[in-house]
Amino acid sequence: MVSIRPFGRLLDMADVVKPLCDRYGRQVTYLRVSVTERCNLRCFYCLPRECSHSAQRTQLDLAEIADVVGVGAALGIRKIRITGGEPLLRPGLANLVRALRSLPTVTDLAISTNGILLAEHAAALRAAGLMRVNVSLDSLEPAVFRTISGRNGLERVVAGIRVARAAGLCPVKLNIVVMRGVNDHELPAMLDFAAEHGAQARFIEYMPLGLGKHWASSYVSRAEILERLRPRLAASPPRQEPGDAATYYALRAGGEVGVISPVSCRFCDLCNRLRLTADGRLRPCLTSEGEVDLTPALRPTVLPDAIADFFRAATAGRPQHGTYKTDEAERTASPVRPMATIGG
Ligand code: SAM
Repeated sequence: MVSIRPFGRLLDMADVVKPLCDRYGRQVTYLRVSVTERCNLRCFYCLPRECSHSAQRTQLDLAEIADVVGVGAALGIRKIRITGGEPLLRPGLANLVRALRSLPTVTDLAISTNGILLAEHAAALRAAGLMRVNVSLDSLEPAVFRTISGRNGLERVVAGIRVARAAGLCPVKLNIVVMRGVNDHELPAMLDFAAEHGAQARFIEYMPLGLGKHWASSYVSRAEILERLRPRLAASPPRQEPGDAATYYALRAGGEVGVISPVSCRFCDLCNRLRLTADGRLRPCLTSEGEVDLTPALRPTVLPDAIADFFRAATAGRPQHGTYKTDEAERTASPVRPMATIGG
């Protein structure tokens, strides 16, 4: 059983009423929570085969994760995304979802998954209180799916999307990393697939992170993605949702497509998030290496005030803008943590 302790009542009221606000006036209201570094796929841009995980012994247990999120919620976190690694590999995940859903101030509780295990878990997660799901699906062609992810499994992902929707995990958003010469011919097919499955496609620029190889030759900019989508787009102006990195464009056929451009159109000014890694670090920025280790505030005893201090330190540590290492030699010489071990 995982439960949320009423940390709001334990913390100094001055902390609770003072939002987490960084040096640049941006308020932190969104926490991405990685529940495992393990993944059942090996996407070459995310968790290359040669990458090793941190020692699993340092992984937070679910009660510790609930404690951290409970303090975060008392400090103004309203939106939570459970991620990984592949979060559906974490035993007991529905118990964590149930606990997080009991936080009265949390208004959005979602998960990011590769969908391989989604058909098995969707109903239980929905029953536990999960609101919606983002499924990462980079190709609809089995051979391309395998080239990217190192595994078979496309059919299972498609089944997972159907079951998630039937279970009421809506809207299902499909996250597609666009890579030149790999899957960039599939943009129209992805739109058709999303429409057929009642889902929303979101095309994402490939970020130069971790050991990801061939970034420069594979990267497709938002401008090019939009150019390719042009025949499908309606004339109406794009739309942005508060706290959402995507820009949404209306489709002639109805519905919308999202484009997320972390490289060409940085959204750092709008950034409202911190990341909690599976090994108990708060990460102020996806692209910058600084992290705040929470474990002294969790072990041997949970110290809510210390957790709150660490949340403030991580918030204070947010840079104005993140930086990418676009040069492959430089990036592979001193690699940052792969995305799968940070929590995407
Ligand atoms: N396993 C889950 C999943 O597949 O959604 C959650 C973790 S995964 C790291 C989260 C997201 O990060 C996925 O949509 C993945 O495509 C994206 N991602 C990982 N590395 C990326 C990169 N270099 N550029 C853009 N997106 C990336």
